[in-house]
Amino acid sequence: MPTLSLVRGRLLAPHPTEARLTLHPDALVHIDAGGRITAVEAAPPGCTVPETWPGTVLVPGFVDAHLHFPQTRVLGSASGPLLPWLQTSVFPEESRFGDRSYAEAVAAEFCAAMVRQGTTLAGIYSSSHPDATDALFAELDRTGLRGLTGLTWMNRNAPDALLRGTAETVAATEALVEKWHGRDDRLRVCVTPRFAISCDAEMMRAAADIAERHGLWVQTHLSENHDELAFTASLFPEARDYLGVYEALGLVHERTILAHCIHLSDDEWARLASRRAVVAHCPDSNFFLGSGCMPLARALAAGVPVALGTDVGAGRTFSLRRVSASAYDASLVVGAPVPPEVLLWQATRGGALALGAGDRMGCFAPGYDADVVAIDAPADADAGRLVDALLFNHDAGPARATVIRGQVRWGAAPPPLPR
Ligand SMILES: [Zn+2]
Repeated sequence: MPTLSLVRGRLLAPHPTEARLTLHPDALVHIDAGGRITAVEAAPPGCTVPETWPGTVLVPGFVDAHLHFPQTRVLGSASGPLLPWLQTSVFPEESRFGDRSYAEAVAAEFCAAMVRQGTTLAGIYSSSHPDATDALFAELDRTGLRGLTGLTWMNRNAPDALLRGTAETVAATEALVEKWHGRDDRLRVCVTPRFAISCDAEMMRAAADIAERHGLWVQTHLSENHDELAFTASLFPEARDYLGVYEALGLVHERTILAHCIHLSDDEWARLASRRAVVAHCPDSNFFLGSGCMPLARALAAGVPVALGTDVGAGRTFSLRRVSASAYDASLVVGAPVPPEVLLWQATRGGALALGAGDRMGCFAPGYDADVVAIDAPADADAGRLVDALLFNHDAGPARATVIRGQVRWGAAPPPLPR
């Protein structure tokens, strides 16, 4: 697949560290053969390079901090709230991933859906099956996506087809580390205990141990739904609170991604902030399952690293633009509006920083990966209007084009450059 050497267009460029964007009305992005940006400059007067995707605005790749590969085909199954939804819609479907060929077919659909929406990095839960997870890694590798993923650890409170003992799960995770971790500087094995209801203390301690041993990231769910909170408290009566379950087992640190975090106490927020754990905010899923609204402005003010997640299949979309719109709605519901510009920054640069890819993703600047997403947008619009159009026009289609490390992975390749 050829690598683009030059892209011309309107850029909405995230600031490296502050949650704001700068509009460059007509820019040239130079890309080297390895797919990295070497220079960004204003197109000079009389520039003969045609606009690469006319009528679009260019943003960096989106970051989806939380979604479930084996829920691709049950996206939008209205059987919530959380615990009945898992039993009715999710566990039967995830059980099918014991069949590798089924997993391979879904992995292709799943990765294509992300690329179509401009996602270039994701924190993904596989099923509990090692082979399905291997198939997912292979597809991520083929499509050029960056991903953190691992088989989902579960040894109780689910159908037998999904349960796996601790020793076997550790061995399977070790094998995935050996085969995939660090591949092409894009793929990372993420230790994925589903949540405290699905894993006993011994299993979660083993998860913390393997993460520590290999320096792996960890992902799990925290504080999504009141029935889940009550069930968890009954399973861990000695725990200080829900976060305390994970803390006591060594699972909460600066390489931990905690999805949802809706019903946390003041004390839990303070401890999350001091441990530098990452919150994956999944507002579309939270609306669909009626879980509640995470107080985003509060998390940001406390300095908690936040990334946005679709949470497919409780989330009804692979689009981080739709999720950003839901995050805006949720922020209004809790009475602390978060500006659209901040949300688009969180969906791109903020997510890259939160997921440990800040040195390579989320900026249009030399040294960064040439991940470029072209999205149809109104002409002659200022930056604010462009951001609104990207987030809130729900009739808009997927990205016009998605470029990952300089390679067009979705949409039409541009015509050859004039000589
Ligand atoms: Zn989830």
